[in-house]
Amino acid sequence: MEKYQCHDCGKVLARDEEYMPYKVGNEVYVKCKDCHQSDPVLRNFQATEVYSRVVGYIRPVKQWNKGKRTEFDDRREFVVEQPACSSC
Ligand SMILES: [Zn+2]
Repeated sequence: MEKYQCHDCGKVLARDEEYMPYKVGNEVYVKCKDCHQSDPVLRNFQATEVYSRVVGYIRPVKQWNKGKRTEFDDRREFVVEQPACSSC
């Protein structure tokens, strides 16, 4: 058996220790018994794919070139206040 490490607490599991395996595609994640009992759901096991608009196209930011990714980091979100209706 290869060495398993708990996904949540990072503990390296002992050879005879109970654990819960989670198969995601070709990847297998494991949780130790304590972590599985406190939260049986596997969370935060993969990065979120962020899409944004670049030169007219919506593309995953991960696939942008270095310069455009830096530009993405510089972008700020803001909310434009709606002007009050003039007839109300
Ligand atoms: Zn654990």
